[in-house]
Amino acid sequence: MADKKESLNLKNLSFSDSVSYYFDKAAPFTGAPQGLLDQIKTCNSIYKMNFPVKYGNEVRVIEAYRVQHSHHRMPTKGGIRYSLQVDQDEVMALAALMTYKCALVDVPFGGAKGGIKISPRQTPPDILENITRRYTTELVKKNFIGPGIDVPAPDYGTGEREMAWILDTYVTLRPGEIDGYGCVTGKPIALNGIHGRTEATGRGVVYALNEVCSYKDDMKDLGLETGLEGKRVIVQGLGNVGYHTARIISQYGAKVIAIAEADGAVYDENGIDVDDLYKYRQEKKSVKGYGKGKVIADSASALELPCDILIPAALEKQITDKNAARIKAKIIAEAANGPVTPAAEQILLKKGVMIIPDIYINAGGVTVSYFEWLKNLSHVRFGRMQKRWEEKHQTDFIKLVEDLTGKTVAKSRIDSLIHGADEIDLVNSGLEDTMIEAYRDIREFKKRRKSEIDIRTAAFAVAINKIKNSYYAMGIFP
Ligand code: GLU
Repeated sequence: MADKKESLNLKNLSFSDSVSYYFDKAAPFTGAPQGLLDQIKTCNSIYKMNFPVKYGNEVRVIEAYRVQHSHHRMPTKGGIRYSLQVDQDEVMALAALMTYKCALVDVPFGGAKGGIKISPRQTPPDILENITRRYTTELVKKNFIGPGIDVPAPDYGTGEREMAWILDTYVTLRPGEIDGYGCVTGKPIALNGIHGRTEATGRGVVYALNEVCSYKDDMKDLGLETGLEGKRVIVQGLGNVGYHTARIISQYGAKVIAIAEADGAVYDENGIDVDDLYKYRQEKKSVKGYGKGKVIADSASALELPCDILIPAALEKQITDKNAARIKAKIIAEAANGPVTPAAEQILLKKGVMIIPDIYINAGGVTVSYFEWLKNLSHVRFGRMQKRWEEKHQTDFIKLVEDLTGKTVAKSRIDSLIHGADEIDLVNSGLEDTMIEAYRDIREFKKRRKSEIDIRTAAFAVAINKIKNSYYAMGIFP
């Protein structure tokens, strides 16, 4: 009865209530006092703005938000989303997720998120630019942006282009700020962005899944072999995150058997050529009419096809109590933020599905944003100082080995051995290490608990504990 009542209530939760629900579920495992938990859970600052923008001869009022969920570490950090779904509840939920995400992967920021209620596809680029610049100006006016205050980044519907407009507006309004370029991340390389940021979330998802699938016991419980090789994968969304996840997981030997987009899905049991489909969709603005594999008109039904790993990489609330029972995947990797609702999660956990939560698995984006911010503050590209020195040092070492052994090492071998680390090598190595370490923390926490807790609860508890320690260190909570 109690179970029935709980699942009934779960169906009516707003997005931010769902995040609070996950928080409350994990809180008892942290030993934090109630007052501290309340402080961690609440949104610290909410800024809603309405400003006018010209659309030809018309003027329209634009609704926009920036929410800073937690100031326990500064600056706050999180993307800006352009979508017609944007409202205060959504931005609050996403900002809270950023706080837990950053804590979990040891990115020393509080969480934030921004949103503008517009359709990026239906808004002409010059108007998009005006809106972005005006939004940034509003943030500057209220001291809601800056390298030490709050640092936006791309999210759904935004990318390098929008970040460049934000940067340009910021440095125009705040001339001479030596660290001004650190006011936003996800910038183009030519404007002090970092190599590897664009694909970072997708690459992080794959590094994480590679780690998740490396544990024999866990895989045995699911009836799976270890490793990504040969795993059958379904991806929802061919935006930045979905595309790079699908592309990179294919390189690891997994087979992407279906890709679902808003207007249809492509299914091919032999594996989809991800780049080919991506190019087709870029050109035609749709997956309809794609010649290889089978095109399924009802794209939601593609999520219900049998597979090993299902990767929702689009928007929140995609797997709900309505379709959860029909999902056949053994692992769900939440590349999007909040794609599985609490009511759906209850059904899936009962079925034994392993859910790898958003606050962990999509943290690759903010991790590389952190590297970009560090690069901006240090004003030098990673690897610039030591690359040549490393190569010389390695060359000398190989020479020594050759002299001592009297043998010569093959040129191809030498080339790969002496290669000093470029920025992209360091970024990817830092990202891989981050994803591996964070999963080990979560898994250890889960294992230490006598009672069975799910992976999301463990991830939230690990994150809350880290934030708790920051508050304790401030001496606010005795
Ligand atoms: N929007 C991304 C996220 O949801 C990245 C945020 C960032 O890089 O600050 O994690």
